[in-house]
Amino acid sequence: MIKKILLLLVVGLILYSCTTVPVTGRRQLSLVPNSEILPLSYDQYQQVLKENKLSDNKEWSAMVKNVGRKIQGSVEQYMKQKGLSDQLKGYAWEFNLIESETVNAWCMPGGKVAFYTGIMPICKDEKGVAVVMGHEIAHAIANHGRERMSEGLVAQLGLSSLSAALGQNPTMTKQLLLQSVGVGTQLGMLAFSRTHESEADQIGLIFMAMAGYDPHEAPKFWERMEAQSSGQRPPEFLSTHPHPETRIADLKKQIPEAMKYYKR
Ligand SMILES: [Zn+2]
Repeated sequence: MIKKILLLLVVGLILYSCTTVPVTGRRQLSLVPNSEILPLSYDQYQQVLKENKLSDNKEWSAMVKNVGRKIQGSVEQYMKQKGLSDQLKGYAWEFNLIESETVNAWCMPGGKVAFYTGIMPICKDEKGVAVVMGHEIAHAIANHGRERMSEGLVAQLGLSSLSAALGQNPTMTKQLLLQSVGVGTQLGMLAFSRTHESEADQIGLIFMAMAGYDPHEAPKFWERMEAQSSGQRPPEFLSTHPHPETRIADLKKQIPEAMKYYKR
């Protein structure tokens, strides 16, 4: 009986601990609050910046920062219009270009974005940077890192001990963060699930459109990425993300919706 009551309590807690992803409206688990996650995320980001060299390509670095700020501005405006500004509490956006041949880019919880110089030739120009930036910012807005942490918490503890552990174990929270976002590894970030990747594509397409970048650029970027990968070891970004053919097809289907947000 007691077990049953406890289970009901925990199920209640989990239902209560759900949030809704902006734009897509998907319900997601969120057992760990951003107030706990973000400071850890910012520490890790600083660590990455310390251990790596920022690019001295001024033009590229400025491009990454400008596109980042532009999309950030549009997204903040959108969240405000939807009455969702609260969800951005504690966010501290940052956009840096790291010197590395690795073809990758990632975003840590709270809006800490990194591009590697290796992805810049595939981005080709500002519009290509906007495709990747929209996708990365979407991961942050959709709180995909937090969702992974929450799922990890359930998986590790099981339901019954979950309530006791929540919010009372900073060490565990940190461990979960490291596992969930895989920071500090060569990858920068472990692969998100397919759901998260497709969702970041879908939201990212709308975000780039809001900031004045034509969403038709997105499939073009992935075509360039695919061309780059043929015949050699696939770029890091591809090994952590779904196959380009699938996402090109999906993105093309989503363009009409994104065009509704497109401001020329
Ligand atoms: Zn991604």
